[in-house]
Amino acid sequence: MPYAYDDQNIFARILRGEIPNNTVKETEHTLAFADIQPQAPHHVLVIPKGRYVTADHFAAEASEAEIVDFWRTFGSICAELGVTPDAGDGYRIISNAGEHGVQEVPHFHLHILGGRGLGRMLQPA
Ligand code: 5GP
Repeated sequence: MPYAYDDQNIFARILRGEIPNNTVKETEHTLAFADIQPQAPHHVLVIPKGRYVTADHFAAEASEAEIVDFWRTFGSICAELGVTPDAGDGYRIISNAGEHGVQEVPHFHLHILGGRGLGRMLQPA
């Protein structure tokens, strides 16, 4: 079944400039901005500008230019935040997808979390 993209989702509206955001970095294909409800001292959302619903959708249908731009942007943000394990204390990336992933916003996004110990990956169910 094709992925159904909702053009009214919050991140689509941010990309259209209808809702303000605290931009961390912007490139040709990627936007990164601060999460409105940070769960850690560093909490940055990285999104492609294209209409992708989930990480698997992005992996399947994005162009190589979009994919490279996305991951290079992610890496440069980690370096600029000082959270890479070679220079800092590390970080976690999360991408929630669908119902079981408890995805709130149906536009592919990566959470970068850092700046404190983050505990184990998952809480017991
Ligand atoms: P999800 O649960 O979909 O992985 O995460 C969505 C994230 O988007 C949440 O962490 C939430 O705080 C963030 N968020 C929701 N609405 C807005 C908004 O209008 N602006 C920003 N910057 N973040 C938002």
